Amino acid sequence: MIASDIAPGKTLEPSLVDPFGRGVSYLRVSVTDRCDFRCVYCMSEDMTFLPKRDLLTLEELDRLCSAFVGLGVRKLRITGGEPLVRRNIMSLFEGMKRHLDSGALDELTVTTNGSQLAKYATQLAACGVRRINVSMDTLDPDKFRKITRWGDLNRVIEGIDAAQAAGLSVKINAVALKGVNEDEIIPMIEWAHGRGMDFTLIEVMPLGEIEPDRIDQFLSLSQVRASLMDRFTLTDLPDRTGGPARYVRLEETGGRLGFITPLTHNFCESCNRVRLTCTGTLYMCLGQEDAADLRAPLRASESDEPVIAAIREAITRKPKGHDFVIERARSRPAVGRHMSVTGG
Ligand code: SAM
Ligand code: SF4
Repeated sequence: MIASDIAPGKTLEPSLVDPFGRGVSYLRVSVTDRCDFRCVYCMSEDMTFLPKRDLLTLEELDRLCSAFVGLGVRKLRITGGEPLVRRNIMSLFEGMKRHLDSGALDELTVTTNGSQLAKYATQLAACGVRRINVSMDTLDPDKFRKITRWGDLNRVIEGIDAAQAAGLSVKINAVALKGVNEDEIIPMIEWAHGRGMDFTLIEVMPLGEIEPDRIDQFLSLSQVRASLMDRFTLTDLPDRTGGPARYVRLEETGGRLGFITPLTHNFCESCNRVRLTCTGTLYMCLGQEDAADLRAPLRASESDEPVIAAIREAITRKPKGHDFVIERARSRPAVGRHMSVTGG
């Protein structure tokens, strides 16, 4: 059976449910591990990237994503590395649009550093993308350069302008970094809310070797939340956007503020996600090493049966959760691969 064409509103197979009764309805796909930035918490400066020959083609990524949609995945996030630096990436978005059109997919979205957004915003909107996440940790151009090592804040702001002009709803994601952007959290919230954008803070996770020590970067969001209460009135919101963030409304700005707290409040009990890398490896958890190779069964046959069987088998191994810890005594990251490989 080929999953590339799925009848309107139909899934081809019973949905994916893991051993803990959690339905898997959300796939994140890292379409490249490469990036035009080198954010200090994400990558080392001299990263070694995967050999290009190991990468799935965009046609193969389409086939795999379509197999997941056929298995009941309703939300697809394209990420990386920097997804918009992969050559011809718009063809994958164009391909996925057919699943939005058929009703098989509820949402097609992207997480980007914004560097290429000015170029692609209109095309993304034309492919049915409605909401995007842009990662931005500071409003200070010099600090931005230091955090990203190579990035230009102005280009990112131009990208955000273009995205909003194209009608995309933008959420800003910022990693909370101790002593780096701590003092900017309030101005950034006010800036984002002033532009009608949601704003989400993320705790640093111990993924992959980097030069700085993550314990020096880590800022607890419980602490940030407590200090924000001196300034704002926070009202808990029931909203879940299918992702790990928990939201509050700030009465003073009227905007939404999200917290992604893998360290201080593990969100695994409601995890509905799996992650596919650009080489066709499926990770059932961001914070565990166990994985399934989908490239071999994909390439073994023109039929999707082998890959569907491999996906089903992998879901039976989805673990209960991660066990991230950041402490001096434990200097090694929880998992060896960087966030750019598994996809944020
Ligand atoms: N390049 C794109 C971007 O930066 O938005 C997409 C990929 S990036 C790996 C996805 C998200 O992961 C970004 O918001 C980034 O800030 C976050 N991230 C990367 N490494 C992280 C880490 N070690 N801990 C927490 N968040 C991290
Ligand atoms: Fe690149 Fe995103 Fe990682 Fe920054 S966080 S280095 S932009 S992949």
